[in-house]
Amino acid sequence: MKVRTRFAPSPTGFMHLGGMRTALYAYLFARQHKGDFILRIEDTDQERFVEGATEVIYSSLKEGGMTYDEGPDVGGNYGPYVQSERREIYQKYAKELIEKGGAYYCFCTKERLESLKDDMGNVRYDKHCLSLSKEEVEERIKNGEPYVIRQNIPTVGSGTYEDAVYGQITVDYSELEDNILIKSDGMPTYNFANVIDDHLMGITHVIRGTEYLSSTPKYNLMYDAFGWERPVYIHLPPIMKDATRKLSKRYGDANFDDFVSKGYLPQAIVNYIALLGWCPKDNSEKMTMEEMIEKFSLDGVSKSPAIFDDVKLRWLNGEYLKAMTDEEFYAVAKPYIESSKVGTKYDNKLIAPLLRTRVEILSEIPDKINFLEEFGEYSKELFFHKKMKTDAELAKTVLPMIITAIKNVETFNHDGIYNALCRAAEENGLKSGQVLGIARVALSGTAVTPGGSVELAEILGKEESLKRLNFSLDLLNK
Ligand code: GLU
Repeated sequence: MKVRTRFAPSPTGFMHLGGMRTALYAYLFARQHKGDFILRIEDTDQERFVEGATEVIYSSLKEGGMTYDEGPDVGGNYGPYVQSERREIYQKYAKELIEKGGAYYCFCTKERLESLKDDMGNVRYDKHCLSLSKEEVEERIKNGEPYVIRQNIPTVGSGTYEDAVYGQITVDYSELEDNILIKSDGMPTYNFANVIDDHLMGITHVIRGTEYLSSTPKYNLMYDAFGWERPVYIHLPPIMKDATRKLSKRYGDANFDDFVSKGYLPQAIVNYIALLGWCPKDNSEKMTMEEMIEKFSLDGVSKSPAIFDDVKLRWLNGEYLKAMTDEEFYAVAKPYIESSKVGTKYDNKLIAPLLRTRVEILSEIPDKINFLEEFGEYSKELFFHKKMKTDAELAKTVLPMIITAIKNVETFNHDGIYNALCRAAEENGLKSGQVLGIARVALSGTAVTPGGSVELAEILGKEESLKRLNFSLDLLNK
């Protein structure tokens, strides 16, 4: 049997990290078993429809490296892959389920349902329409009376199934309701569509969040009524912001896109969310997609809620940046450098390498390099360095020779500048570290810079470097 898993998001306009993780596990499981991974869009709730939301799903999965074998935009043999395009299919099966006694027509009005409300305002449907005769039902439908189709849940007994993560789950039918399967507008609800589609699309393993753990017995009743084989269920633990709160859009910190625009790399996010609820046997943390496919195992999926750890995600992202080549890093850092005060004034290819090992997320870049444009009055104290034995007095005597050395560099590149400054140090009986340190402060006007004086001078160019060194000399002589 070929493994087939699916990711079945509702197009809400954003990709929640929890959804992304569900997609990832379904993807890893399918790939590991040389199976198929399918994307299905669950858009039957038309009121929640958001323009452009499906595109967000496509692009997030693509950015995250989860290629699907079948889906609305790639096709496949089990389509359509958008639920609103499958209306007739649901109608057909709903009628079949009614024939089998698993569902029934309900004509109850809003007012009648209101009257069933308990003290808490909850409506528990009383199966009123279950007793209508076939003739009466036909008559009322013919007369154009609005109706819904409800699932006929047994009043006694319980449903049991084996979840691959949570083990045996039993739910008393008395706790379940005769939920609506087909709404009055003819659209199915999730409760119905998920069963029909998972069966017709040949889904062997249903991977989704724990919110469906206790409603699954309802779905099993339908599989059984149709005489269909139940899929294997794999429910995943929730992702929490902390001990009590779920990670949610409400806290503004749960969207894949938001993380990407905050400067996290898609592959780092995907790697991190893989660890939210799953621990590889060898405790690996940084893993490529191929490694995750190889290592993924249901034994390692936890029942306990996973806590989202921002610090760890940042760290992991930093590890991804460090592992990049200068070229790769430049490609992702470029927009952040350009959006800083520095803009495109200098050769940004020279700036990028200074940042690669010094930021954990790309949005830290502007703060790290804005000093390049903020040069001005600064405190002479910055020249004081205990270990290097430098201070403002020494800087005052050393700066003129730094200026001469820089002036005389012929090929103004890294090696040219470095050699010139080292030579100047040697000729004056100083350590090269002292000269380089003084030059760094004099060029930047700050205490901490990514990169040293040589890199800074190369970025600034000869003219700007000399301007700054002279400014610093004047400052020291004041
Ligand atoms: N559309 C459902 C959701 O977004 C899918 C649940 C499932 O995977 O069955 O929660």
